[in-house]
Amino acid sequence: MKGKHALVNEQNQRLVFDIRKFSIHDGPGIRMTIFMKGCPLHCSWCHNPEGISSHPEKYYDKAKCIGCLDCLDICAKHATSMTSKGIVTDDELCVLCGECADVCPPMATEMSAKYYSVAQIMDLVVREKPFLQQSGGGITVSGGEPLIEPEFTFDLLDACGKTGIHRAVDTSGFVKKEVIMEAAERAELFLYDLKMMDSALHRRWTGVPNEMILSNLRLIATLNVDLNIRIPVIGGVNATVENAVASAVFIAGLEKKPLSIQLLPYHIAGSAKYEKLGRLIPDHGFQVPEVNDLELIKEVFESYGLPVMVGH
Ligand code: SF4
Ligand code: SF4
Repeated sequence: MKGKHALVNEQNQRLVFDIRKFSIHDGPGIRMTIFMKGCPLHCSWCHNPEGISSHPEKYYDKAKCIGCLDCLDICAKHATSMTSKGIVTDDELCVLCGECADVCPPMATEMSAKYYSVAQIMDLVVREKPFLQQSGGGITVSGGEPLIEPEFTFDLLDACGKTGIHRAVDTSGFVKKEVIMEAAERAELFLYDLKMMDSALHRRWTGVPNEMILSNLRLIATLNVDLNIRIPVIGGVNATVENAVASAVFIAGLEKKPLSIQLLPYHIAGSAKYEKLGRLIPDHGFQVPEVNDLELIKEVFESYGLPVMVGH
């Protein structure tokens, strides 16, 4: 659905919460990673909480505000005003263009996301293309979930394909199989998250069951596209030999093996983002997995002849 504050607006621009120009963790080489907002999952350990909601958010920190009024001057919609509570934004007028955040000297105003057209993203991609290609890299569409507004992502992947740049899709897999098939025609690599094999536990920790995710993973393994599987390993959730064995059996049974399985140990780096969003840091008692537990889990995958590594 398109609209003023939708994931894709009436100008066919997509809400993007970050564009990382020199990513080394999202596929081969150095990559430009485009983080698209909105996710059908709500993983309790999410390190990108600003990517979950389908709505853009504008943040204001009065303590940082120096009262320069640059944000008022720049706003073509006259959506901001200075009040006794500091800067206030009229949501009816604001189109979330992000200009006020761009000019705010102390970053008292920030946007959780900005709208980009395919052409705007391609301007950035083309500028970095020689550097990306020299490193054997390319672009990665990530999120959030880049396939929940598939048409925009397909247009972007098509545009990148025309420039001959390597394309990776980082997905939760919680989308229709038709979307997966169309994405596979437009990408060279899938980065696929496999969180846990028990569907009831999957629903408990991510908000959705895993049957569609497993089914789409089986499907991708039959398609003409490379596959890397990423497994977050979270103490107190899935850092168990039982889940490792179930995952290894499933992956070993796929029509073709993934190029790699990456075990990604849980860490607490996302906590500052929760604070900025004004949300409480969820306390689920998650633990950073012990080195010995990680080694055991890795050995399980190795025992099934699977290419596994710890970290990116
Ligand atoms: S995001 Fe754009 S429209 Fe909204 S207040 Fe800032 S400058 Fe004005
Ligand atoms: S531009 Fe930033 S610092 Fe200046 S008044 Fe607006 S919010 Fe405050």
